[in-house]
Amino acid sequence: AIPLVTANTTAISAENGLLIKNRTAFENSRKIDTVVFDKTGTLTEGKFGVNHIEVFGDNMDKNKAVQIAASLEKNSEHPIADGIVAHAKSIGMEMFDINEFKAIKGKGVEGYIDGEKYFMASPGFLRENNINIPGDMPDFDISTNVFLLKEKNLLAAFGLSDKIRPESMEAVEKLKSMGIGCWMLTGDNKKTAAQVSEKLNLDGYFAEVLPEEKLEKIKELQNKGRYVAMTGDGINDAPALAQADVGIAIGSGTDVAAETADIILVNSNPLDVTVLIVLGKLTYRKMI
Ligand code: ADP
Ligand code: MG
Repeated sequence: AIPLVTANTTAISAENGLLIKNRTAFENSRKIDTVVFDKTGTLTEGKFGVNHIEVFGDNMDKNKAVQIAASLEKNSEHPIADGIVAHAKSIGMEMFDINEFKAIKGKGVEGYIDGEKYFMASPGFLRENNINIPGDMPDFDISTNVFLLKEKNLLAAFGLSDKIRPESMEAVEKLKSMGIGCWMLTGDNKKTAAQVSEKLNLDGYFAEVLPEEKLEKIKELQNKGRYVAMTGDGINDAPALAQADVGIAIGSGTDVAAETADIILVNSNPLDVTVLIVLGKLTYRKMI
């Protein structure tokens, strides 16, 4: 039992891994009936290992593909980038210098090596640019796929795997038992999203969602009368965190997410969302 009468809620929240930045949002958390989670880095650990590399064409080999990919990704703070760079380092790869590096929001990155333009990008980016994946492309299992391109030529495909946080399972179960709907929003592909959603028994998910579309999805739920908490870690989650009735950032996430959120989960534990809602209810009861 939590001795609410004697201690103040800020201290109790801190003891329970919650950093409250917005007091009103904290008090309103008792009203949450829908929790939307980002996938990568929120429901999952956001630590990617490279487990497949496929190269296309005669002029490419796996090492060279890793070298170019990691050179581009060393400039990005996306968890996918960290996975690629760690892989390159583990095999002792030197990196190229990159000019005019740019992040393509929710889709990938681009940059120049010796005057030639390269991309590391999502399946959605390939579709938009009418770039076909050759038929002999392996069906990467529960993994996130990214592609290395030189201009519009496909050089390589990478399959990276991430892990669902064990606490995510419990968090969803507990929230659902409290009658709270659990949804997932991700920029990742539909197949991976469907697999994660099924494993966690979510009420639903939105996949291949761009950062500005994440905000729209929150609005849609609000327009249906839902009182929505958004939980995320990335720069790409910031607009949705701001739009949500209660914005919750994962402590290990980006500064942008933490700055935008009302509440920070200091221990990066999704289960603490349930703690937040319970504390919100207890605080309210204490006030009346
Ligand atoms: P999420 O919502 O799962 O956190 P993002 O919106 O950050 O996903 O990214 C969506 C997709 O864009 C990724 O699954 C990946 O395919 C691609 N992507 C984003 N950033 C990068 C990057 N630095 N390198 C390669 N691909 C990337
Ligand atoms: Mg994320």
